[in-house]
Amino acid sequence: MIKYSLTCKCNCTFDSWFASSSEFGRLMKKKLITCIECNSNDVNKSIMAPNVSGSKKIDNINYKFQKNIKKKIIEYQKFIKKNCRYVGDRFVQEARSIHYNKKETKSIYGRVTTDEIDELNEEGIETITIPWYDKTEN
Ligand SMILES: [Zn+2]
Repeated sequence: MIKYSLTCKCNCTFDSWFASSSEFGRLMKKKLITCIECNSNDVNKSIMAPNVSGSKKIDNINYKFQKNIKKKIIEYQKFIKKNCRYVGDRFVQEARSIHYNKKETKSIYGRVTTDEIDELNEEGIETITIPWYDKTEN
């Protein structure tokens, strides 16, 4: 069940319960929602300002979302560490050497600046960047 605050063209405001937001949409389309005062079907869902508990909820979702992303990135980091060779600050040189000499098939990872990524991309060298968390930070 979902509660909507509705307003009518007669300026009347009232709350009404619906099975779901899609049910509300269906009734709205069929003009089956009528004002309790004037019986007109010219009603609209009123725009509600978020209240304190509502915004708290959003913060909580954001927090969970961010935590989830961090978890995913750490998993990804583990995968990279396992499957790629760490080259540290020599990423650009190493990436070029792989690209032009085609000696190595193993992927590499390391530190790189956004300018360097742009340079590599211009040369047709593919890179993937992810935020990197240090192990100590948790
Ligand atoms: Zn009305």
